[in-house]
Amino acid sequence: MESFLLSSTIVGVVAQRLVRRLCLHCKKEMKADPEIEEIISAELSIAKPITLAKPVGCDKCFNTGYSGRVGLFEILKVTSDVRSMILNKASDQAITKTISANGMKTLRMAGYQKVVDKITSYEEVLRATLTENI
Ligand SMILES: [Zn+2]
Repeated sequence: MESFLLSSTIVGVVAQRLVRRLCLHCKKEMKADPEIEEIISAELSIAKPITLAKPVGCDKCFNTGYSGRVGLFEILKVTSDVRSMILNKASDQAITKTISANGMKTLRMAGYQKVVDKITSYEEVLRATLTENI
């Protein structure tokens, strides 16, 4: 597709991943491991200590520790900066850098928020966002 067509018509891009939701009946709350706490605290700019929840397993979740799924979303708004970068065929890396500087919440950040909210596990977020260049 021609970049001038793309840059003039696109208003935003949404990426989504599904992660498994921790079972409400058996999830176990605990303090995050120090290295995980460090990563989440830095990524979300929140204070330590951080508590999260881990899967356990019970009759209600067939011993998986999870029940149901929830979406992680990353929303890229095509601003005038991004628009002109697309038009000028800027590299992926350059566009990603500009987007990050504009404060876009990445899929992984959306996942970490769900970890802090004890909706899913840290491991589940890593699994779902493993291929992300973040
Ligand atoms: Zn359970």
